[in-house]
Order: sequence, then C-alpha cells, then structure tokens
Amino acid sequence: MKIDIQPIISGIADRIDVGCDIETPPEAAPDDVEFTSAAHVSGSLSGDVRSMFLKCDISVGYKTHCARCFCDVEGVFETDILKPVALKGVLEDEEDDEYLIAEKAALDLYIPVMDAVILEFPMRVICRDDCRGLCSKCGKDLNEGDCGCDTREIDPRLEVLRQLLVDYENDKDGGENENTDKKQSGG
Ligand SMILES: [Zn+2]
Ligand SMILES: [Zn+2]
Repeated sequence: MKIDIQPIISGIADRIDVGCDIETPPEAAPDDVEFTSAAHVSGSLSGDVRSMFLKCDISVGYKTHCARCFCDVEGVFETDILKPVALKGVLEDEEDDEYLIAEKAALDLYIPVMDAVILEFPMRVICRDDCRGLCSKCGKDLNEGDCGCDTREIDPRLEVLRQLLVDYENDKDGGENENTDKKQSGG
C-alpha cells in the first residue's frame, strides 16, 4: 500500500489523510500468533517537502495462546507509527531507522506497518490479568479450581531436613508394626 505524497511535495497540500488496510501474511506473524485480519491503518501525513511526519494508528486482529494456561486468546492489537518521513536521496544516512523513506513521491506503508506491529507485539499474551495458569506438578488448569498439589517452594537446605524427617517417620512406622506383630504372635 503506497501513499501518493505528490500533493505535499508540490506544496498543494500540507496534510494527506491515510486510511487503508494492509494485508498481513501468515509468515509475517510472530511465533504462535496468527493474524485474523488485515492491519487497519488510519492517520495522516503532514508537513511540507522538507519536513514530513507520518502519524497513524494501527489495529490488527490476532489469535494466540495464553502464556500461562495455554488457552486460546483472541483480540485486537493496537499500536501506532509516529515517524518523520524523508524523500529518498535527501538524508545522509538512509539506514537511520528514525526516518521512513519515500521513493518517487510515494511512501510504501507495508514495511513500516508490519515493523510497528511485530516489534510492539507483546512477548507474552495472557488470557486475563488474574489467570492462574497450570499446576506445575499435575498440569491442571488452576482457573478451573485447585488440584490439591503441594506446590510450595521448598528451600533446598530445608529439603534435606524434610527428607531426614520423612525417613525417620518411615523407620518409626516400620518399627511399630514389627512390635505389633510380635505382640499378636505372643498372644
Ligand atoms: Zn490463561
Ligand atoms: Zn496439581
């Protein structure tokens, strides 16, 4: 999708409205994310030939999985582009990411829009703020209720003591059983 910026270059206009849908190919989506709509772009390009500025909002539908409980999550991701625009050949350093470069009186929005979406898309999406995730022991979805597992974090130093206590309890139980057997056999 290219915006014709000729009206600004020739000084006829100091603002061009931008409103378009940009296709979101599956291969452009981040890992484990599927775009469910085109990226809707709306805003404006304003200024004059020496100093142009693109300001637009972007929204795109997506589907992914909750990072805690792995359930399906669908939503609309919103971001924006706020960047100065320069004509090709004007800047000393055209690799400068601060600027968007317009070629031949046209500004191609595909790469700037996809960059904005992919760079800003959250690394972890959760289904809701208080999602409790899955039990680290049995894997049960804790949003559906407690599983009863003891998932308290145990200090490794205390774990040694705890294990000694368990061994001791086991020995004691064994000993008691032996005694009981003897008593029974003795009559
Ligand atoms: Zn969740
Ligand atoms: Zn559990």
